[in-house]
Order: sequence, then C-alpha cells, then structure tokens
Amino acid sequence: MKLKNSAALVTGASRGIGRAIALALAAQGAAVAVNYRSRAQDAHVVVKEIEAAGGRAVAVGADVSDPVAAAELVSRATDLLGGLNILVNNAGISDDALIHDAAPDAWWDVMKVNFGGAYHCTHAVLASFMAQGDASIVNISSAMGERGWIGQANYAASKGALNAFTRSAAVEVARFGVRVNAVLAGFTPTDLVSEVLRRDGGKGIKRQIPLRRFATVEQVAAAAVFLAGPDSGYTTGELLCVDGGFSAQLGIGRP
Ligand code: NAP
Repeated sequence: MKLKNSAALVTGASRGIGRAIALALAAQGAAVAVNYRSRAQDAHVVVKEIEAAGGRAVAVGADVSDPVAAAELVSRATDLLGGLNILVNNAGISDDALIHDAAPDAWWDVMKVNFGGAYHCTHAVLASFMAQGDASIVNISSAMGERGWIGQANYAASKGALNAFTRSAAVEVARFGVRVNAVLAGFTPTDLVSEVLRRDGGKGIKRQIPLRRFATVEQVAAAAVFLAGPDSGYTTGELLCVDGGFSAQLGIGRP
C-alpha cells in the first residue's frame, strides 16, 4: 500500500470518476473524504464500500463552486480525517450549447464548478499543504481543454483554465513541497457524457479514438492515484492524457 499514512479529499466522489478515484486511493491505504453536492445517499454508499474493504472514509457534502462552502469542506475533511495531504479536484459538470444559444448563467455555472471549484479547494488547502512540505493536488481535467469541440466552448474553456492553473500553481508551490498535476481524461462513460454517447452508442466517437475504445473510470483513477502518490514524486505541472491517443492525433483523417 503506497498511501498508508495519507488522507485525501476527493470532490464529486459520489459517482463516476470521482467514486473510482476514492475507491482506488482507499485501496492504497489512504483515508478518504468523499465529497458530493446533492447525492448524499450515493456518497454514503461509497463510504460503506471503502469501509467494507477495510479502509477509512467519511462523506462530506458541499457545493465547491461556493468559496465559503469549499473552505468549510476542506476544514471538515481535515478534522474528520485528522489531517489532509492529498486533494483531488474532480467535481465537474457540463451544459453543452452553441455559444450564440447559451444563456450567460449556464456558461458561468460550468466555469464556476469546473474551474472555480478547483481554485476554491486549492486555495483552502494550500496553507496546510505548504506547512507540511509534502502534499499533492490532482486536477481531473479533460483533453477537451486543449482542443475544440462544437457545443462545448464553456466546458473546454473551464478545462483549459484548469490546465493553465495546474501549470502555474505547480510552479508557484513546488518550493514548498506541494506538487500539482492534472489528468486529462478522454471519453469515459459516466452520467456526464451519457447524452453524447446515447446518440449512436458512442460508435461515431469511438471511430475517432486511436485505441477505438472509451476509458474506464478505473483507468482514469489509476492515473490520479499515480499523480497523488510517491511514484510521481518528481512530477509536477504535468498534464497526463488518459484519452486513448485522442489528443495525440491530427484529426483530419487519413491522407
Ligand atoms: P459525473 O458522473 O456526472 O459525476 C459528477 C460528480 O461531481 C458527482 O459526484 C457530483 O455530485 C459532483 N459535483 C457536481 N457539481 C458539484 C459541485 N458544485 N460541488 C461538489 N460536487 C459536485 O461526472 P464524471 O464523468 O465522473 O466527471 C468527473 C470529472 O471528470 C469532471 O471534472 C469531468 O469534467 C471530468 N472528465 C470526465 C470525462 C468523461 O468522459 N466522463 C472526460 C474528461 C474529464 P452529486 O452526485 O452529488 O451531484
């Protein structure tokens, strides 16, 4: 177990990728705070799963887009776990629309959760993480933050901001022993992308992915655990793609 004396907060861990990250961190021995926004029941099921496997976990509700709630979340997670040295900023939403159709509020909601949430939680942990001199922040971002996609200008911008933030934060806090990295996930079947994949079962998208398949939540979680733990001890400011080759490809078809 590589994270035996660690305590982690995973935002948006009641389902999807966050749930898989919480389980994977716990499997490596970390105590885990499972954050959720509205689905308390689902978060408690994750806690029970971790406990059933012999681990330690607590569920803590908070809307990370609210800076005060995010600070309270960090404080509560730290108290309940008796410390905190890993933060995984995973909470995220999408609200796809063409730019000229989108309501300004919907645009900002995506930015406030996906980027604002990561900023608020990072801000809240930094004093303690820097004082400890050995801590890690992992941002769950997207290949979409580095590429364009029709109808996802809001989502792509939020993830592009998160990628830029990851690099700058990494450089800023490296001398205090705090590492900041990001996982850039590709298509991973969860509630978040169910609408996009429903159209043709995802066949059209799969054809455009070099590995011709979607990621599993466990594959994304494995990258997050790597970046959170000691195996990546000399890695910071890294944007690690887990996208089946999607962002390595020049998408203009075969010559
Ligand atoms: P998901 O299944 O829809 O789960 C989203 C999670 O975020 C839920 O636990 C939800 O809590 C929580 N959440 C949403 N808004 C929140 C808020 N304001 N405060 C606190 N928690 C909040 O999504 P997912 O696919 O697992 O996505 C997880 C992360 O991976 C996101 O950042 C997403 O952008 C990123 N990602 C996903 C994909 C993909 O293909 N799935 C690809 C690239 C990146 P409740 O259950 O309480 O609502």
